[in-house]
Amino acid sequence: MTDAPGTYALLLQNEERQEIEVGALGEMIVRPGVYVYVGSAFGPGGLRARVGRHARGDGALHWHVDYLRAATALEAVWYTHDPERRECTWAAVLRALSGASVPVDGFGASDCTCPGHLVRVAEWPSWDRFRDHLHARVDTHSAVCRAPGAPLS
Ligand SMILES: [Zn+2]
Repeated sequence: MTDAPGTYALLLQNEERQEIEVGALGEMIVRPGVYVYVGSAFGPGGLRARVGRHARGDGALHWHVDYLRAATALEAVWYTHDPERRECTWAAVLRALSGASVPVDGFGASDCTCPGHLVRVAEWPSWDRFRDHLHARVDTHSAVCRAPGAPLS
């Protein structure tokens, strides 16, 4: 992962049911399972700066995902340095996985018309299936990589 721009997914594991406050969205019930949040980083410092911030979990609670990140464990990050913003496509692929649901309408999707950029799955999502579906939708998509959560901080 470099400081070039790109799109990423945070795979956040939650063990126990909890209720958290998510800024203006209000109360959110976080159930056991895997929450996958999709974002993009096209500002200074690119992907490495943004994902590093998520991995450390420090700083002000600014985006919706900051509240969820503070309450869960970051297990892995999937990312691409594709020069196009791919977050809506990534979110669509994740929403289409079997057993996937959108836990909170509009989460992380203030600037687009997606149902949400946060998807919950009961089981760990298949990396191979995710990549296959992504490349099937966008045949010019750049390589997709993955990294474990902890070493990124
Ligand atoms: Zn979107």
